[in-house]
Amino acid sequence: MLGIFSKCTLPKKAGSHTIRQLSSLNFDIQHKHPQARRQVGLPRARYGGRNAVTMLPGGGIGPELMSYVKEVFLHGGVPVDFETIQIDPQSDNNDDLQYAIMSIRRNGVCIKGNIETRSLDTAIISRNVAIRNELDLFVNVINVQSYNNIPSRHKNVNCIVIRQNTEGEYAMLEHESVEGVVESMKVITKENSTRLARYAFELAKNNGRTKVTAVHKANIMKLSDGLFLETCKNMSLNYPDIKFEHMIIDNCCMQLVSNPHQFDVMVMPNLYGSIVSNVICGLVGGAGLISGRNYGDHYAVFEPGTRNTGSSIAGTNTANPVAMLSASADMLEHLGHKVHCDMIRTAISKTLNEDMVHTADLNGTAKSTDVVDNVIKHVKSIAGRI
Ligand code: ATP
Repeated sequence: MLGIFSKCTLPKKAGSHTIRQLSSLNFDIQHKHPQARRQVGLPRARYGGRNAVTMLPGGGIGPELMSYVKEVFLHGGVPVDFETIQIDPQSDNNDDLQYAIMSIRRNGVCIKGNIETRSLDTAIISRNVAIRNELDLFVNVINVQSYNNIPSRHKNVNCIVIRQNTEGEYAMLEHESVEGVVESMKVITKENSTRLARYAFELAKNNGRTKVTAVHKANIMKLSDGLFLETCKNMSLNYPDIKFEHMIIDNCCMQLVSNPHQFDVMVMPNLYGSIVSNVICGLVGGAGLISGRNYGDHYAVFEPGTRNTGSSIAGTNTANPVAMLSASADMLEHLGHKVHCDMIRTAISKTLNEDMVHTADLNGTAKSTDVVDNVIKHVKSIAGRI
C-alpha cells in the first residue's frame, strides 16, 4: 500500500470545501519522512533496443496531444512502446493512480498530460502531486528559449527554471484549527533544498551557464525561505566559477517582465517555481510552446512546462501541440535516442521558424493537425536520410 493513500480521518466542512482535521496520524502519513522518498529502482522493461514508456494522457487536451505524439513517433520510426493508462478524474479511489505509479516504476520514464482531480475531499489528493511525491521527483526543469519567428513580448530569452517539486506550499497539510480558520503548512527541508541547489549548480556547470539566481521570500518567511536561501548560498561556495545572486519573488516577477535577459539559471521553492514558469512561458509565446521535465534519482516524467489542462479548448483542433511534442523529444534525449530526439526538434523548429505554421495562441490560423502534419512532413524527410 502506498503511504499517502492510507486511511485518514473523517472530513470536516469549511465553506464549500471538505477539510480534513489535522491529526498526528495525518502528519505521520504525509510527512514521516519529509526529506526524501528514497526509491529502490526496478529493472527497466526494455525489448530489443526499444523502450517501454508510461503514457498518462490526463484530461482536457491531453488525449489529443498524446495522439499527435504517437503519430509523429510512428512516422519517425521511434523505438518506443507506450503503456497508456487513463486516470479517471471523477474516481473517489486511487486504484488507477497506483497502477500508473507502478507502471512508471517498471518503465522508469513517463510522458503525461495534466491529470484532473475533481473531488473536493482533501483525502483525495491531486494525482499530479501524488505522482511527483511517490516517485520522489524532486526537481522540475523548464528550459525556456525563444523561437525566432514567434510573436512574443521579448526576443532571445534563454533561461532555465529549476523548481523544487515535492514540498514547500505543495505539502498539502491543511486543517481547520477552529471554525473559520484554516491553516496550511509550507514545508522546506534542508535535504531537499540541498539536492535541488546542487542540481542547479551542476546543471549550470555542465551546460556552460554562468549565473544561478535563487528566488525566495526570506524577508517574510524567515525560517522556511531563510533555510532555502541559506542552503543555496552555501552550495554556491562549491562553485566559485558560477556567479550567485538571489532575488525576492515579487521583484523577480517584475524583473522578468521588464528584462528577462538578466536571468540564466534560476532556482526556487515549489509555488514560486509554478508562478515563474508560467510568467516566462507567457513571455516567449504561451502555454502551448515549452516543455517541462521532472527528475528524481530513478524516474523521469515529461510534460508541457506550464502543466495546463486546457479543458475549454479540448476537441476543437486548436491546441498548440508543440509543448507536448517537445516533451516527447526531451524524453527521447533522456532515453539516449539522440538521433530521433534531434529529428523531432528539427521538425518542430522548421515548422515554427521557417514554415511559420502557427496555431491561434501564436496569432496564427493553423489547426493543431496542420502543425502536426507539417512536423510529420519534416520527420519523414529526415527519417528517410537516417
Ligand atoms: P481550462 O482548463 O478550462 O482551459 P484553465 O484556466 O484551467 O481552464 P489552463 O488549462 O490552466 O486553463 O490553461 C491556461 C490557458 O492556456 C487556457 O486559456 C488554455 O486554453 C491555454 N492553453 C493551455 N494549453 C494550451 C495549448 N497547448 N495550446 C493553446 N492554448 C493552451
